[in-house]
Amino acid sequence: MLKGKCAVVTGSTSGIGLGIAEGFAAEGVNLVINGFGDAAEIEGIRAGLEKKFGVKVIYDGADMSKPEQIEAMMDNAAKVFGGVDILVNNAGIQHVCPVEEFPTAKWDAIIAINMSSAFHTTKKAVPYMKSKGWGRIINVASAHAMVASPFKSAYCASKHGVMGFTKTVALEVAEKGVTCNAICPGYVLTPLVEKQIPDTAKARGITEEQVKRDVLLAAQPTKQFVTTKQVAGTAVFLCSDAAASITGTNIMVEGGWTAH
Ligand code: NAD
Repeated sequence: MLKGKCAVVTGSTSGIGLGIAEGFAAEGVNLVINGFGDAAEIEGIRAGLEKKFGVKVIYDGADMSKPEQIEAMMDNAAKVFGGVDILVNNAGIQHVCPVEEFPTAKWDAIIAINMSSAFHTTKKAVPYMKSKGWGRIINVASAHAMVASPFKSAYCASKHGVMGFTKTVALEVAEKGVTCNAICPGYVLTPLVEKQIPDTAKARGITEEQVKRDVLLAAQPTKQFVTTKQVAGTAVFLCSDAAASITGTNIMVEGGWTAH
């Protein structure tokens, strides 16, 4: 059903985005992958996806904090693939720090990359989706779109903002065959989480092992990290016919975190 469609997945050179890109490639979806990293490694990912799944994959290095670069990426995707059918707003960064010491530049970057980039991509994707009468917008938010944790003021603000944006867009395109939803993962052991472990240890005055056990997994009743495959499977499901009536909502993939 998804074969031959085009998906733009932001922040897909690593972690959850890469998992989602692989999930869509396995369904025959052509891709625009995006994100930072070593050029040779990124080319390896791009060519590897093409070879393994027989789809066309292009890489666009647009910086999700730069509106003009985001717009150019979306225009290029439409030029190469004739439109954007599936948009996954996934790129994101984190910074862990008490609010009174939180660097202003970090706040601005987190709001731009985690939240405003979804506005810039969606603005460009919606006209294509409306004209085709089909589209799927998936925002990778977080359990932190529903609840907060100390020392993550910018991140929680950005993810709560993404949730409001998700609901608004869903209402605007509801009659056009286009859905807009958020996936809210709990902790997935990606570079984003690995990087915040030392900072959390410092902020709380505990060891890194204690951060994993007593801070991260303490929040998840399953006591297991969520996997990128589980998030990718949810994204693919949201693009199925079975999910056509699911819009303006959030799917929690967080091991029961927000149940208590
Ligand atoms: P990650 O660090 O593994 O990957 C982030 C991706 O975003 C990378 O490809 C990176 O290059 C890209 N990126 C960062 N800044 C960018 C920019 N300015 N422009 C373009 N690309 C940029 O992180 P991840 O854990 O896979 O996170 C992906 C998304 O999932 C984020 O939005 C994050 O908030 C969300 N999330 C992660 C977790 C988790 O536990 N890992 C939990 C909930 C939500």
